[in-house]
Amino acid sequence: MRNEEEEKVRQQIEGLLSNGLKTMLEPFPETHVEFAKLLDELRNLSPDDLEGKLVIGGFADQPYGPDQMRCLECMYYLVHRKWCDLPELAVPVEPDWYCRLWRI
Ligand code: SF4
Repeated sequence: MRNEEEEKVRQQIEGLLSNGLKTMLEPFPETHVEFAKLLDELRNLSPDDLEGKLVIGGFADQPYGPDQMRCLECMYYLVHRKWCDLPELAVPVEPDWYCRLWRI
């Protein structure tokens, strides 16, 4: 059951991103302070504000930047569940997606 629900949300995200939802890809949080500030912004969202998470998180439905960063190599990515385990996001994601909370 959980898988089906997560797949539904994954498709919803895919739809929003492929329809051109404008997300904040930049600036990338270079320091711990900037990273923490982004987490604070995410915590201020209502828990079901999926679009807000995507916008503030700076999501993309493809790898990003010269290093082609993507969820698959991010420390928060759970491969078998195809899930972002960063509590402030906690969303189903594809391995080839990206967001600016990316960490290795
Ligand atoms: S933090 Fe961002 S890049 Fe990392 S797994 Fe989550 S959504 Fe993907």
